[in-house]
Amino acid sequence: MPRTALRVCPLCEATCGLTLTVDGTRVTGARGDKDDVFSRGFICPKGASFGAADGDPDRLTRPLVRKNGTLEEASWEEAFDAVAAGIRPVVEQYGPHAVGVVLGNPNVHTMAGALYPPLLLAGLGTRSLFTAGTVDQMPKHVSSGLLFGDAFAIPVPDLDRTDHLLMLGANPLDSNGSLCTAPDFPGRLKALRARGGTLTVVDPRRTRTAKLADRHVPIRPGTDALLLAAMVQVLFADGLVTLGALDEQVTGVEQVADAVRNFTPEAVAAACDVPAATIRELAHELAAAPTAAVYGRVGASTVAFGTLTCWLVDVLNVLTGNLDRPGGAMFPLAATDKEPRPAGPGKGFALGRWRSRASGHPEAKGELPIAALAEEIDTLPRADDGGLGTSPVRALVCVAANPVLSTPDGDRLDKALSSLDFMVSVDPYLNETSRHAHVVLPPPPPSQSAHHDFAFNGFAVRNQVRYNRPAVPLEDGRMPETEILARLVLAAIGMHGAEPDAVDALAIDRTLGKAVADPCTRVHGRDPKELAAALTGDNGPERRLDMMLRLGPYGDGFGADPDGLSLQRLLDHPHGIDLGPLAPRIPQLLKTRSGRVELLPEPIVEDLPRLAAALDADPTAGLVLVGRRHLRSNNSWMHNVPALMGGSNRCTLHVHPDDAARLGLDDGQHARVSAAGGEIAVPVEITDAVRPGVVSLPHGWGHDRPGTRLSVAAADPGANVNQLLDGTLLDPLSGTAVLNGFEVSLAPLPAAP
Ligand code: SF4
Repeated sequence: MPRTALRVCPLCEATCGLTLTVDGTRVTGARGDKDDVFSRGFICPKGASFGAADGDPDRLTRPLVRKNGTLEEASWEEAFDAVAAGIRPVVEQYGPHAVGVVLGNPNVHTMAGALYPPLLLAGLGTRSLFTAGTVDQMPKHVSSGLLFGDAFAIPVPDLDRTDHLLMLGANPLDSNGSLCTAPDFPGRLKALRARGGTLTVVDPRRTRTAKLADRHVPIRPGTDALLLAAMVQVLFADGLVTLGALDEQVTGVEQVADAVRNFTPEAVAAACDVPAATIRELAHELAAAPTAAVYGRVGASTVAFGTLTCWLVDVLNVLTGNLDRPGGAMFPLAATDKEPRPAGPGKGFALGRWRSRASGHPEAKGELPIAALAEEIDTLPRADDGGLGTSPVRALVCVAANPVLSTPDGDRLDKALSSLDFMVSVDPYLNETSRHAHVVLPPPPPSQSAHHDFAFNGFAVRNQVRYNRPAVPLEDGRMPETEILARLVLAAIGMHGAEPDAVDALAIDRTLGKAVADPCTRVHGRDPKELAAALTGDNGPERRLDMMLRLGPYGDGFGADPDGLSLQRLLDHPHGIDLGPLAPRIPQLLKTRSGRVELLPEPIVEDLPRLAAALDADPTAGLVLVGRRHLRSNNSWMHNVPALMGGSNRCTLHVHPDDAARLGLDDGQHARVSAAGGEIAVPVEITDAVRPGVVSLPHGWGHDRPGTRLSVAAADPGANVNQLLDGTLLDPLSGTAVLNGFEVSLAPLPAAP
């Protein structure tokens, strides 16, 4: 008999609650859970395809181990023996930094990805960490670290209460939102307009979101920082600055006025291709709105001035009195966050504590640029090794990551990966990256895993909490993803063979030990063993979740507040628990050395001359390329699900009719796209949805390499846009690859005979 089960969707950042139909061990359907406290029944085409993605026959079911050059199915025991035998000799011979760790984007969509990688990194002691952050949101982390002293203190627009939303480089009608977790983002935008609010979209493409807006500003790609700097200049010049409740909480306001003095609307207009009068109107509208929020995403982040853009977004929020107030840009408080501490000076945020070996890129948030991964493997270090030892990366632990497709110059990385002494991938697929591994450890499908959103609740537009136990029992021969990662930690740190529960016990001991020693917690002075004994849950990950909930801001404090959260309370509320609208969190949230918002941090001061130099660049030079997202896609993940492929979800190059005519391109014809890193051939789609001088190609495609097992994706492989990049073009403060707004050239290709 078919039954139903609840599961929060892991297929994008919106975290919609789903009601799954389960027949035996197969998910046969998915619909929106109308009782979900956050998503209230919303679902998109990806969520509706949960069952197809979950049951994809190309998913690996057993570990693979390389034998005589070929990956063959093996037992879990054999696989972890091979991991231990592969990693430990590299650590012992070349030191911990010779082991690289790559964490892909899906890590933030799983419980295992939140709970175990920090232990892996600490246990290995490696500084060679590369994540999807440096092809995505690292500029926002750096900006928040500098402004607020906490790289994870990322304000989100208070979507449901704001009167005015200014959005840059974001297309939530297709992405469903990013660094802003909001199920039914489209519905929330429509509600904003229905209650009399206004939506302004700044984007070089006329996206579906731009079509919904009151005003669309088709800016030249990569110039958002200039536009925002000019808006800040207007606020000062026209006497529109008001800090509101933050009046006593911000340093550096006058210094910002000095720093942007020359970025007048007239000075930036040509570079941005936005009239000076429009820039003034944007600033005045923002200042005049009863409440407003500025929000920038990928198109404003993965650009040459990514960190400056992210910084200016929040400078505008501060200077219009909209940071940390209802209807403005606010800081969520997740159930597993730490209890708020008394306000006061913190440790601050530092950049560049060590540098990459080959090019000397500074670390940011403990990470090196993932665009530099290939050279960290295939290049000998500089004489000054920057704190990483003298060995290149010789072994790699790759968790839920496909950098051959998702980072610049996959061809070079392809070769570099094949030269490693050892590589292990935790991945459900044999894909463009995992095909290089010596061991592949496949996690079970999402329906067979428990779920809690550790990451996205920290970016949610409403505080809430949900937990799902596995919707489907674990198949025979499978291992839970949490256990895979716990065993991987043990194998990597020289404790191969120990029970995986030891990893969770260690994490619990450490956390409780710190909590009872901290006079600001409600468990100060208590016995950590007594607290550990009080934890509930069927396994180590559940006990850890119980601990974090109970120590958290809404928790029961291990008895201090009997009505507070615990694992059991979540289990009693399968559709989740609403924790209320976002509430102001400054000054307690601040961890800067001054204890205040530091509006003009030194690294920003040092980078501003680069932005000033952009005013002199020739704005008419060449074609530039930007990415795009499709509703039925998410990076490279969903290209193996037949129901989501085809239609308009295709890897085509959008070209404006004027450019197509000038270059002699016809619709459907193939064109050669060339840039510093290489060239690719793609079919042209002529559309005025891109502005003249701009072409657009989606990322996550290029499934044409041999040795993968992705039958649907390989049948319509598309081209890998990242092959156009050579990995040298980075936002210098965050090490983030410039994936948007780089120059390309186009030439028609003859039709195939
Ligand atoms: S919007 Fe995102 S979370 Fe919601 S159903 Fe679609 S893919 Fe899943």
